[in-house]
Order: sequence, then structure tokens, then C-alpha cells
Amino acid sequence: MPTKPPALAPATCVMCHAALDVLRAQEARTCRKPGCVHGYAMLPEQAKCRQCGVPLPLARQGIGDCGGLACVQQATRQRLSAARAAHEAAWERGRALVADAEAARGSSADEAAHHGMAIVPRNHVRSTRMRKKRRLELEAHVRQKLVDMREQSAEQIARHRAQPAPLPPELGPLFGAACAACRGHCCRGAGTHAFINERTLQEYLARHPGATDDEVVAAYLSHVPPRSQLPGCVYQGPKGCTLPRDMRSAICNSHLCHGLERALAHHREVAPLNALHVLHREGQTVSYRRLVVLPSAD
Ligand code: SF4
Ligand code: SF4
Ligand SMILES: [Zn+2]
Ligand SMILES: [Zn+2]
Repeated sequence: MPTKPPALAPATCVMCHAALDVLRAQEARTCRKPGCVHGYAMLPEQAKCRQCGVPLPLARQGIGDCGGLACVQQATRQRLSAARAAHEAAWERGRALVADAEAARGSSADEAAHHGMAIVPRNHVRSTRMRKKRRLELEAHVRQKLVDMREQSAEQIARHRAQPAPLPPELGPLFGAACAACRGHCCRGAGTHAFINERTLQEYLARHPGATDDEVVAAYLSHVPPRSQLPGCVYQGPKGCTLPRDMRSAICNSHLCHGLERALAHHREVAPLNALHVLHREGQTVSYRRLVVLPSAD
């Protein structure tokens, strides 16, 4: 891939560190000494900071910048802007695929306005039979969090994230289907703890006063699916998350990926959704998966 010319002008020669006059700094990275000019020209592009052009030590050559604050910030801005551009390009490709799907269905413009679009990551992880070890790890986690919950003060527990305002109920099945299509791509780090914390369990006990620890543990174990994604969350079954929303941690209930954020914005700002086109994205490739329709909208 061609490297963009460095964006940040140096104040000194990148080879010998002699001060550069303003004119020289605008035209080159080195002073005029032949040793600096030729030595620098001989360096391969990957051995230069992409932002300020200084020669990189071997350890930073795979990273691409010298680690200086201005260079790191500039590189981050470039990455974000490239990611935004890639998102927008994927969105446009998705819209074209959705337009084809709507045309094939013969949808009217009004019907199509109530059909959202969610482009979700393609996740190749497969489900595997639930291992006893994973259930035991989940059980140990819930038991430990119940102990911690009793030892912690109200302030300590309140430091855990609070539950968000619930999603409009009609979006639950639509978003659930989208999450199932990407096999819980963003749940991969949840392993056998599923982000269940002291506050999650305190909220559960507030809804089930008097429940014993064994009953709480049994309730959480009862939702473990026979198969789940590995690596992935113990609750991420082949059809999506099997833990009821009110038993999930606040992080699980708050997080929406970019694709679902846009679908939610459509629901709130354009037209209430009664169906969702789910598409996959893998790199720059966008592929159509299916239209999920709410039963009442059939
Ligand atoms: S929120 Fe996570 S699991 Fe759901 S569709 Fe987005 S990436 Fe996939
Ligand atoms: S409990 Fe459900 S939403 Fe939370 S990490 Fe696991 S699969 Fe994802
Ligand atoms: Zn020099
Ligand atoms: Zn640099």
C-alpha cells in the first residue's frame, strides 16, 4: 500500500537533528548534508514515521509512528476518519442491497420506510456443546459476586454502571435477531462471567426478595443454552443471547454497535420499525442476510 507523505513538518533534521530553516523544513525532512539526504533516502518507507518522517527503531516499525504525542494523535485521527469513510461506504452498499430486496418483495414506499437496516459484523465463530467446566465457572462467578455484593457498601455497588432506559419492546426481537446473525461479535470477551456484577445481582434480588444464593445461581444457570459460541459468552447460543434482558448486566443492556445505533435512530427519527434488514459486513464486503419481520407486521 503506498504510504502517504508525512504530514507533520520537522523542526530539525530527522537524521542529525541539526535545526532546519523554515524553507528547508517545508521541502525536506533532512538538512542539506549529503550524508543525511542519502542516508534518509535509503531508508525503506516502513522504517520512517508516517506522520513526522523520523527514522523508526525496529520495535516501532510495525506500528508506523514514532510514538510522539502529535504523531499518535494524528495517526488516530486518520484511522478514525478512514473507519468513518469505510462505514459510510458500507452503508451505501447496504442501502443498494436493501433497495433490491424491497423491489423483490414489491414493498410500497410507506412499507419500506418502516423497515430498518442493520449492518452487523460477520463472525465466523461456531457454537459448541456446552462444557461442564463453563457452567461451573459461571456458577463460581455468580456465587462470588453474591458474596462481594454483601461485603460492598451501597456506594461501592452504585459505582457499577446503572441499567439504561429500556429499548422500545418491539425492537427487542429485531435487535435480538441481528445479534444472533453476528453471533454476538461484541460479546466475545464475556466468557463465563457474562459481565454479571454485584449491581446486576442486587437488582435481581430486588425483584426476587428472599431468594437464596442457591436459587439465584440456579436461575442464572437455567438460562445457559445447550450450545454456545466458543470463544464467546456462555449465554450466546446459536439463536442469540439466552439470558433475559432483566437478568443481564447494564453493559449488556446498554451496548449497541454502530449498526444497531443507526437502526435505533431510524426508529426514533424516521419511522417506527416493524422489520429489520440484517446484513453482514466483513472488511469492505457487505452481504444481504435476511429481513426480520415482527409477527404483528406480517
Ligand atoms: S450489538 Fe454486538 S452482538 Fe449485537 S449485532 Fe452489534 S456487534 Fe453483533
Ligand atoms: S449475557 Fe448476552 S448480551 Fe451479555 S455478553 Fe452474554 S451474550 Fe452478550
Ligand atoms: Zn542532517
Ligand atoms: Zn513521528
